[in-house]
Amino acid sequence: MQIKVVLVPMFGLPGSGKGSVMANLKKMAADSSDISIITVEMGAYFRKKAQIDGPIKDIMDSGGLISNSLVNDVFEELLNASVAAPILIGDGLKEKAIVLLDGYPRTLPQWEHFLEYRAEKNLSVAGIFVDLPEEIVMHRSTIRRICPKCGGTFSTEEYHLCPHCGQSEGIRRADDLKMERRVRVFNEETAPVIEEAKSIFEHQITVSGVDTKLASQQVWDFVVQELWTL
Ligand SMILES: [Zn+2]
Repeated sequence: MQIKVVLVPMFGLPGSGKGSVMANLKKMAADSSDISIITVEMGAYFRKKAQIDGPIKDIMDSGGLISNSLVNDVFEELLNASVAAPILIGDGLKEKAIVLLDGYPRTLPQWEHFLEYRAEKNLSVAGIFVDLPEEIVMHRSTIRRICPKCGGTFSTEEYHLCPHCGQSEGIRRADDLKMERRVRVFNEETAPVIEEAKSIFEHQITVSGVDTKLASQQVWDFVVQELWTL
């Protein structure tokens, strides 16, 4: 069986809802007879890597940026593992595979590499943009709490004690504490990539992160109706 692959970077501020949209799309694909959704998550990869790799942990703890060349290598490695290998061994993929990229490309040098890779492998591409105003992202990050007892998340606007176990007040997530800096890095490094991507992707969709359920449905419709004409 010939599998058709489309590479789809997702762009949006940290905390704009990309993760929720990705999770919803995976659920929708589970019920589809012909579409697989594969996710390649750079942030998750490096958080895991930091647990066993001292130098990477040091860079991440200090809030520094991992070098573009390392990130580019990891991108190729993850893509080969999640797409090329299953295709070669005919493992589990349906006729059409969407590869959602989260956290890549995030800088202009990564964007250049992405374009070269895409051309070299002759892959189809499309873009998903999740829009959420910076004020909302910042506000959400200040009211979000995680329960130290049960791990549930909730908002201080609705609850004082964790609504899942009722046993504890919540604490702020490490990611949220760094949100101001993450947003600044995004504006400096990733905003120029988004501008370029919006101007060259022939197939793209912009959705609002205010309602991630609605956004997921809109993206799914876009995938089903538009992407396979590429
Ligand atoms: Zn709890």
